[in-house]
Amino acid sequence: MIDLVGFDGDDTLWRSQEFYDRAQEAFEAILGRYVDLASRGLRDALLATERGNIALFGYGAKGMTLSMIESAIELTDGRIEARDIHRIVRLGKEVLAHPVELLPGIREAVSAVAANHRVVLITKGDLFHQEYKVARSGLADIFHRIEIVSEKDPAAYTRLFAEFGVAPERFAMVGNSLKSDIAPVVELGGFGVYMPYHSTWAHELIADFTLGERVIEVAGAEGIPEAIARMHSAGE
Ligand SMILES: [Mg+2]
Repeated sequence: MIDLVGFDGDDTLWRSQEFYDRAQEAFEAILGRYVDLASRGLRDALLATERGNIALFGYGAKGMTLSMIESAIELTDGRIEARDIHRIVRLGKEVLAHPVELLPGIREAVSAVAANHRVVLITKGDLFHQEYKVARSGLADIFHRIEIVSEKDPAAYTRLFAEFGVAPERFAMVGNSLKSDIAPVVELGGFGVYMPYHSTWAHELIADFTLGERVIEVAGAEGIPEAIARMHSAGE
């Protein structure tokens, strides 16, 4: 039996990663005027800077922007011009202001699940940006609760189960990230509906996770209600 269903936000309810990918391409174009990108390992350097900064800045576009500025200064040995730093700041602002575009069929899928289960939106990242997206998504009314957390790890999900008074084996999480949405929930004894997105942020990749019997992979939102129904009846 499934009592509570969690939905991820970015790249599960609405499009997100392509806006970050676009900013990354524009960032590389700016830096390409100063350094030979291939030889300097720009992508790896930025990822390393971001990884180090997440603990301080948290997830989201503001942290990305600061990491880009820091990487730009380091990779150009301080030669980056102020006008190009300004361009990088604008890239971050464009990510923050992108329109909220729902994935096909997701409104119908969330509504169908909500007809039979309590549903909660569980998203991580910058609080202000996530609130902005929730408000513009038009989905806020369907969810019983909206949880914006700083990290989606076993500790965060355990807290959530306690708040909702639900046992892990009566919880299913729907999301596009194996690392944040599926693996920690399965580890705790819950279920996962994995809906891959065409682009995945490098920090969300995990190497050593295989979908077990507690995870159903769906190709799109229309598969979500049936996956939850199967999980719901499997335990009866
Ligand atoms: Mg996501």
